[in-house]
Amino acid sequence: MVAYRNEINHQWERQHVLQQWRAGLLRREEICDADFILVTASTFHGGPAGYPCPICGSDRLRSVEWIYGEDLGRMSGTARNLEEIEEIVQRYPEITVHTVEVCPACRWNFLMKACTAVAG
Ligand SMILES: [Zn+2]
Repeated sequence: MVAYRNEINHQWERQHVLQQWRAGLLRREEICDADFILVTASTFHGGPAGYPCPICGSDRLRSVEWIYGEDLGRMSGTARNLEEIEEIVQRYPEITVHTVEVCPACRWNFLMKACTAVAG
């Protein structure tokens, strides 16, 4: 079991970026800059976001989790699926999880939220 704590939700920042883009204040290249690793990680470790990409409307939008923690060593900064996170939390009592939205079609990416995962 995993319990998630200390969630920091970046929904407001996301809306702000999207508003600026719609107003023409940000260029698409500035916000659609996911690199190859991020797009690949979202394909292999992520899951469908369940809603269309806010930039290009693609229904291939993905949501992927990245884990961080001082004790994690080389696992820190890697993408993991939810089953893996459940296992890892049993071994490392506290890890930071970032949820990132990634569009493989236009390369839009955004850090949706950050939270602490603990064994529950
Ligand atoms: Zn897109």
